[in-house]
Amino acid sequence: MITMNIDGKLAAKILRDKLAIEVVELKSRYNIKPSLTVVIVGDDPASHVYVKNKVKQTQEIGMISNEIKLSEDTTQEYLLNQLEQLNNDDSVHGILVQLPLPKHIDESAVISAISPDKDVDGFHAMNSGRLFNGESGALVPCTPQGCVILVKQHLGNDLSGKHAVIIGRSNIVGKPVAMLLLQENCTVTIAHSRTKNLPEVCQQADILVAAVGIADFVKADWVKEGATVIDVGINRILTDEGKIKLVGDVDYHAVFDKCGAITPVPGGVGPMTIACLLKNTLAAAKRCAHQP
Ligand code: NAD
Repeated sequence: MITMNIDGKLAAKILRDKLAIEVVELKSRYNIKPSLTVVIVGDDPASHVYVKNKVKQTQEIGMISNEIKLSEDTTQEYLLNQLEQLNNDDSVHGILVQLPLPKHIDESAVISAISPDKDVDGFHAMNSGRLFNGESGALVPCTPQGCVILVKQHLGNDLSGKHAVIIGRSNIVGKPVAMLLLQENCTVTIAHSRTKNLPEVCQQADILVAAVGIADFVKADWVKEGATVIDVGINRILTDEGKIKLVGDVDYHAVFDKCGAITPVPGGVGPMTIACLLKNTLAAAKRCAHQP
């Protein structure tokens, strides 16, 4: 059996190229240029790197990118005020507040303050509710969307009856990816920190999604022969040479020999997250032109 390495970098490039064409069309037909405003509070270096990448890729596909940088001591009231202004600004189609926020700011109050129609992260309760209900029009969280695109790239569009096991139940990854796979007619199991016999649960998976945040957590003997493995984890570990290395939640090299296909870290789910953010921004802008 040949194992496939699912190339998220390539899939993300293909998606961005497609979006770039749609951006040109939207501009020429409706004179709308999609715009994304990213708000970042504080000095977290990793968050600044993420935002820089988002800004760069937004501009590269011809969208307008705005960045609002606020200091660490910004008050919640000030931030909510900024969001209200962005909500009321017709030239802004997508709003993203980079997480995590400083501890004195209530994350859920901030997420709730973003207009659901501009909530390109898809974290607003209105969007998660629409996803849960299977309603159209939800802006769906980016990483879960990316996971499903990569699964379909390997298994094709019909996932009916496949058993998907998701490890992790966060609102950002685990729960929405479970909802999306349920919509694809998978039989879905959500496993988490209190799940008993986790290896046995995982062994039943045709599709195994790991979103845990523990380096090399999923072992080869947890994986069914031929399974499709999607590794969402991004963990920084120290190598023997004293360098920082990014690894996923799956013991990649050991699992590679067992599974049918696997996403690497880096270069798997990560690049798809930003590409899907751009997809959501385009969708939000299209709504302004009353386009599906
Ligand atoms: P989280 O901490 O919010 O959730 C982790 C989940 O793992 C929890 O639901 C918990 O129940 C489960 N868990 C923890 N320990 C467990 C155990 N021993 N056994 C079984 N389940 C266990 O994390 P998150 O925000 O969902 O992110 C998960 C990982 O995905 C992190 O490494 C994060 O960096 C990464 N991530 C990557 C991207 C991307 O673009 N690739 C995006 C978001 C998150």
